[in-house]
Amino acid sequence: MEFITQNVVSSLYPYQIENIERQIIDYQSLNMAEKKNNFYMCPKCGAVHPRLIKGGMSHSGKQMYRCKECDKRFTYDNGHLTWYSHQPYDKWSMFIKSTLEHGSLLTNSALIDVSPSTAFRMRHKFLSFLSLITEEKTIDKAVEIDEKVFMESHKGYRLSNVKGRKRQMPAAGGAYSHQFVSLICGADRENGSYIQAYSMGHPTIKDATLFGKHISDNIFAWTDGQNCYTKMLCDKRCPFKILTDHKEYDSENHLNTVNSLHSRMAEWYRNYRGVATVYINRYAALFSIWQQYAGCDLQEIILKLIQKISKYMHYFFVRDIRDKDIFEDPTAIYERKGMADHFINPFDGSIGDSTEYWTF
Ligand SMILES: [Zn+2]
Repeated sequence: MEFITQNVVSSLYPYQIENIERQIIDYQSLNMAEKKNNFYMCPKCGAVHPRLIKGGMSHSGKQMYRCKECDKRFTYDNGHLTWYSHQPYDKWSMFIKSTLEHGSLLTNSALIDVSPSTAFRMRHKFLSFLSLITEEKTIDKAVEIDEKVFMESHKGYRLSNVKGRKRQMPAAGGAYSHQFVSLICGADRENGSYIQAYSMGHPTIKDATLFGKHISDNIFAWTDGQNCYTKMLCDKRCPFKILTDHKEYDSENHLNTVNSLHSRMAEWYRNYRGVATVYINRYAALFSIWQQYAGCDLQEIILKLIQKISKYMHYFFVRDIRDKDIFEDPTAIYERKGMADHFINPFDGSIGDSTEYWTF
């Protein structure tokens, strides 16, 4: 028994001791993953595999490194999640845990004692890192493709020329009017999924072509017969089968994997009490990753995520929340300037006239 005294050991059951030990080892690996210097490139001069030496501490108490090539200093977390953040690493890890548990922004902010708007910014920074992971995903075994439709949501801000709509109220014009957004879902039968929205309403051929970049050539595919997928699959020389009706399903030919992904996704978005359409892809990244680790212990998921995230140098600023890598369809956001008037002021944290974001 390495971690606890003999006295304590004798008062516990073996499984309890095992739990404590595992927890300690998890925490140690987590902290090591965070502290490890992963700089394949100097953030100041761009030298690849730079020679680095320790360079004292920053004002905020962070370890600094000095690059031997350019002689400039930077903090150990340059380009990482905690970089440019006033929140220490342990708060970030609590925050990630709560986010994965569908914690609302209010819950998250109370948990780590920050304002709701800080929690909002932290969430989007975290989601933006997750998008980097999912963007590298390629489906390479056998894929079922179908889109999942969500109603457009302006959650968190109000547009002056769009009439408000109560939750669950149907939009006018049928399932594929432009008040809906389609998330194209590619579910690998063996391993993971890639999910992305490109435009409002029906997915187009252009959308499907972009989506196809995440599918290997020559793999087998099943779809429900949307023309846009057919062209993309032909271009990629993927043999495919079209299934327009459940009656055509058999043990080999079906869309069950993607359909069950859709139902989990619907439930999952409900747990977050809806997601603003502009951020739908960031949440899709979170969902994909959550699915990938389904069944894993939460602590283990956090550890794996932090290890993955720390490999990226990603500079995400407050202004990027609304500008960078968001779902941006001109038919979705009629009046982008209107967003700013009713949104959280990113600089002083004050909140515009919308209260909807409280339930984000
Ligand atoms: Zn350098």
